[in-house]
Amino acid sequence: MEMEEVFLLLGSNRGERRQILERALALVGERAGEVSQLSSLYETEPWGFEDAVPFLNQAAALRTVREPLELLGILQGIEEELGRRRPVGGAGPYLPRTIDIDILLWGGRVIRGSRLTVPHPRLALRRFALVPLAEIAAEAVDPLTGLTVARLLERCDDHGSVKRL
Ligand code: ATP
Ligand code: CA
Ligand code: CA
Repeated sequence: MEMEEVFLLLGSNRGERRQILERALALVGERAGEVSQLSSLYETEPWGFEDAVPFLNQAAALRTVREPLELLGILQGIEEELGRRRPVGGAGPYLPRTIDIDILLWGGRVIRGSRLTVPHPRLALRRFALVPLAEIAAEAVDPLTGLTVARLLERCDDHGSVKRL
């Protein structure tokens, strides 16, 4: 299989946030491919959460030969190992989490499955995702709109605070 570049967003708002992000990235590198770029850390305002603890977010570029669902499974395994607990019964309000790892973009691919949608369906709405992503991939193109990440960020009207650390 061909090597493709995938962009991930990591987030943590519970526990030792920095260490958890570091540990998650180390595991992604061991299990999924080569982490080829990392953004700065950003402290961001919770979005749609009832919880007030700010997130640390970081974007990463991953070079991988994994298939999309295979990668999703690896990322969810890492979340679980690092103490992410999903409430029984599925969707409720957003809850604090030690670690969340989302797939933002996968090269120029569009994936619409029951378990995986790429580009991430809320990417264009979220400054906390677009700002870190633009730091490492301002010129990456969203295949749905043909717009670059830099342009998506200009057009985003989210005003949540996103502070580079
Ligand atoms: P949001 O998707 O709004 O960021 P969340 O990250 O809190 O919310 P989760 O509970 O982590 O949501 O994930 C719910 C489901 O989303 C996962 O079980 C997974 O199957 C699905 N999913 C769909 N598209 C993606 C994607 N691009 N990256 C990660 N998970 C995805
Ligand atoms: Ca998420
Ligand atoms: Ca997620």
